[in-house]
Amino acid sequence: MAVINPENNNKNIDFNKITQQQEPLLKDLINRLYNNSPYYRDKLKKAGIKPGDIRTIADLAHVPFTTKDELRNSYPLGMMAVPEEEVIRIHSSSGTTGKPIIIPYTKRDVKVWADMMSRCLEFVGVSKKDRVQVTPGYGLWTAGIGFQAGVEKLGAMTVPTGPGNTEKQLEMMIDLQTTVIIGTSSYGLLLSEEIINRGIKDKLALRLGIFGSERWGDKMRARIEKNLGIETYDIYGLTEIYGPGIAIDCPEHNGLHYWSDHLIFEIIDPETGKQLPPGEQGELVITTLTKEGMPLLRYRTRDITRLKYSCCSCGSSYPMIDRIVGRSDDMIKIKGVNIYPGQIDHVLKITEGAGSEYQVVLTREQGKDKITVRIEVENGYESTKVAAICQQKIKSRIGVKAEVEPVAYGTLPRSEKKSKRIFDRREENF
Ligand code: ZN
Repeated sequence: MAVINPENNNKNIDFNKITQQQEPLLKDLINRLYNNSPYYRDKLKKAGIKPGDIRTIADLAHVPFTTKDELRNSYPLGMMAVPEEEVIRIHSSSGTTGKPIIIPYTKRDVKVWADMMSRCLEFVGVSKKDRVQVTPGYGLWTAGIGFQAGVEKLGAMTVPTGPGNTEKQLEMMIDLQTTVIIGTSSYGLLLSEEIINRGIKDKLALRLGIFGSERWGDKMRARIEKNLGIETYDIYGLTEIYGPGIAIDCPEHNGLHYWSDHLIFEIIDPETGKQLPPGEQGELVITTLTKEGMPLLRYRTRDITRLKYSCCSCGSSYPMIDRIVGRSDDMIKIKGVNIYPGQIDHVLKITEGAGSEYQVVLTREQGKDKITVRIEVENGYESTKVAAICQQKIKSRIGVKAEVEPVAYGTLPRSEKKSKRIFDRREENF
């Protein structure tokens, strides 16, 4: 469980202290990779790095990044860093954007992952008395078994329904009086709407929900919470680094605490690769300190967030990242400012009368970039007024002057999956 210190309030996080705890583990990791991973030994040698060279977090900045492409190219087990006798399980990424990747786990990796997951669950108040319905997939996919191991470690009751079959999910939820639901946010929304449609909310005992694996805006979150009458928590993770459970929403919802005793989180500028200080937004890069089967050095997650520099009001001394605002692939660069879809989501959330849907259109006029944001205005609000407020918030929150074009509620396209929201037409003007 997290170390709770109420005096943390209004103080800054002591990154030096965290770093001091991480440095011996980092030295050990580099040694292990040099001795046991032909892949990394070769890579470090090419970069002119010997084991003794990397002693501090600052030294880490000289270590080359590891990318998802490298993981794909070493398919299936080219990056395994232990003798095969020590590997007890593999998981695989879904491979929706290319060749899958395979991650080998040792006995200790499986244990550390369960420890981190049970820490996540305990952090948000799950106890032995809870009945936890696990709706993510099982098998090669990491999520289901990762959650189950954490629930079992904690000593709560797992209801391992796995994905789909809404009928069965609801039956279990009612008959077993499930108290905690775990899933993707879109499945959480679907279940919550089904529960409302059937009018069965009062037959349920749900008290909290833990959702992850995709970015979800605050308006969607509010809908799930309202439909189910529960509190929800965001959980973070990726198959390449254990799976879900490496960071969890704080009970005060100030951001996500991550487990700095097992992982180094750095933020870099996605374009230059330069390390950024706490507070600045950029791409999250993760180094695994204690992983054995396939440790990763400076793995580029493509996820955009920031390290928070002030201590959390919940009292935990684990450091924090903000909720993920987008992927570096979705970044829009305009007038020298980097913009992510999550920032637009946030502005819409705090603009009264604005809907959750939007489109961003980028054009170039007389050599200058122009950004137009189309927003929906809810019925009963004056569209020019909502647009003006939205424009002012984009300026103050994101730092660019945008044209805001209000349209009637329900006119922007909606899709079940990812709606196309960004239209970059700057090249078309040449
Ligand atoms: Zn907190």
